[in-house]
Amino acid sequence: MGLRLSIVSLLFIAMLIAGCGTEPKERVVDLADFKSQMLGQHSRYFQEQGDQLSWQQAASQFAQSDLPYGHSESIALGIGTEPVWLHFQVNNPQATAREMRLAVKTPWLDIIDAYIVADNTLIAHINGGDYLPFEQRPMAHENFAFKYQFEPGLTDVYLRVESLGPMAIPLELSTVEQAQQLDIASAYRFGLLYGMLLALSLYNSLLYLITREKEFGLYSLYLAGFVLNSFSYTGQLHEIITVDLGVHFQDWLDCFLMITYSVAGLHFARALLKTKNYAPVLDRVVVWTTIAFPLGILLGALANQLVFSLLLGFMLNSGFATLFIIMGIRARQAQVDSANLFIVASVTAAVCIGISTMAVAGIVPYNAYTFQAIEVGMVFEAIMLAIVLAKRFNLVQQDLAVAEKFAHTDPLTNVNNRRGFQQPAEALFKAAVDNNQDIAVLLIDIDHFKRINDQYGHTVGDEVIQMTASCLANSTRKTDLIARWGGEEFIMLLNNTSQAEGRNFAERIRLSLAELRCNTPSGAVNFTVSIGAAGSNQRVCAGKKLAELSLPELIKCADSALYEAKKAGRNRVVELCGDCPFTEASTAEK
Ligand code: GH3
Ligand code: MG
Ligand code: MG
Repeated sequence: MGLRLSIVSLLFIAMLIAGCGTEPKERVVDLADFKSQMLGQHSRYFQEQGDQLSWQQAASQFAQSDLPYGHSESIALGIGTEPVWLHFQVNNPQATAREMRLAVKTPWLDIIDAYIVADNTLIAHINGGDYLPFEQRPMAHENFAFKYQFEPGLTDVYLRVESLGPMAIPLELSTVEQAQQLDIASAYRFGLLYGMLLALSLYNSLLYLITREKEFGLYSLYLAGFVLNSFSYTGQLHEIITVDLGVHFQDWLDCFLMITYSVAGLHFARALLKTKNYAPVLDRVVVWTTIAFPLGILLGALANQLVFSLLLGFMLNSGFATLFIIMGIRARQAQVDSANLFIVASVTAAVCIGISTMAVAGIVPYNAYTFQAIEVGMVFEAIMLAIVLAKRFNLVQQDLAVAEKFAHTDPLTNVNNRRGFQQPAEALFKAAVDNNQDIAVLLIDIDHFKRINDQYGHTVGDEVIQMTASCLANSTRKTDLIARWGGEEFIMLLNNTSQAEGRNFAERIRLSLAELRCNTPSGAVNFTVSIGAAGSNQRVCAGKKLAELSLPELIKCADSALYEAKKAGRNRVVELCGDCPFTEASTAEK
């Protein structure tokens, strides 16, 4: 049933409009030159009141009363109606019998009995409906269908249909060859439409596992719920779950699967459009819709009131389509990115529901394409929403990239912070050790920085830190790493650099930093730095052989050297030399 339950909502209006249909010339179905035909306008029907009638009682009722012929290709009467009796006549003008196939093309009808009568004698009684598992049906088919050899002359066919679900009876008579072709075409359409929906469902569940963004998971559930619901009402699930569970088990299953995908769909829309942020009332209406209706349906199930639950399900279903469109429009007003595509998707789906509804009601010609418009609409909606989700995925990735950058970058200076330094530094260090290359570490600390802050203010202090960072960044090669190590302290990892080269480089930057001037209202400020240098090419460093040295230990060596530089009067480079005491490399004139 699923979305098709929505069909019933329009049936009564549709029946009124369909009443204006044209009268067919010939009411008897003539098999001369015949391929396939819908029998709505060739059939008369009435609803059984009281006790169940035998076919003879029904036949005499058809004979006595002046019942009208159907006005459209399909007969549609709504939910929870009394059983319906139909009658039509087939004329085979040829001299030999012709094998035909009769089908009722709504798969959810509970119990169907066909009585084939010639000269007031019952020739065959065929029983089916979705209460029977596939293997017990007249044909192992999603619909009630059977083959029959029509003898020459007139044959009467009486049909009794009993169902609590939507009473839509699109009868189709076809030659066996034509029926087979229709089946094959339908199987391809089914495979294509549901294949796409299932693939999208799977894909989105994977996106959910990767991103943990709940709209992907809810969307996956929504699609899977829709497909399962269709498999249930078309009887495919009968193949797996047997009818031992009762005549109405499938109807209940339809009902609960309908809740699954409606509820998942609505919460998906909430998550995607972030309705809560700009339309809190609408958001609450949606949330309560997804609580109240399923609760009502559950109560109906506990009290075994299928019609009550189906009606609630139908209301949830049509409410669901309407809420989708309203949410889309509100999102558009709030200028949510994906709103336009969302509206196109949900309106198309609603239009397709309308087409299927009108096809079952006989307003537009009933054929495979109009009847399956719902599935086409669903696939279209799925593709549109997949585009929306792909864009969302892209945004999530961008957000992650930005978050990653923030996590690794110092906002004041735009160079790495400690966290941004750690991983690439370890990799560079390991590569240097593996390839037997030199690597040097410099720790650079601004001298008497507290005084700059105290004297000129924090803003000037910040500016000095920024100037230092950009000067350091400009003087490094691409392969070197630089990071803000602490407040006014920086670290540099110089790739393929011996300790002597590192010391010389440190000396150059010490001099260029000393040249810098930071302009303040009270004049230009200059400053100096102290630098501790340590190189891995020292055969023995801090009492250890190089191969035993770790990056943190090398940094510790540079830190000790920096400490020595400060102690020795600042504005100088001190390098760590072998395992001998720290040695001063250069001193600026005071
Ligand atoms: P020394 O020569 O021994 O390094 O002395 P110092 O004053 O530079 O060092 P100390 O560690 O005593 O002071 C560092 C100061 O840097 C303390 C802290 O308030 C300041 N500071 C840390 N981060 C920032 C920052 O982002 N902006 C500014 N303006 N000041 C900062
Ligand atoms: Mg300092
Ligand atoms: Mg410091």
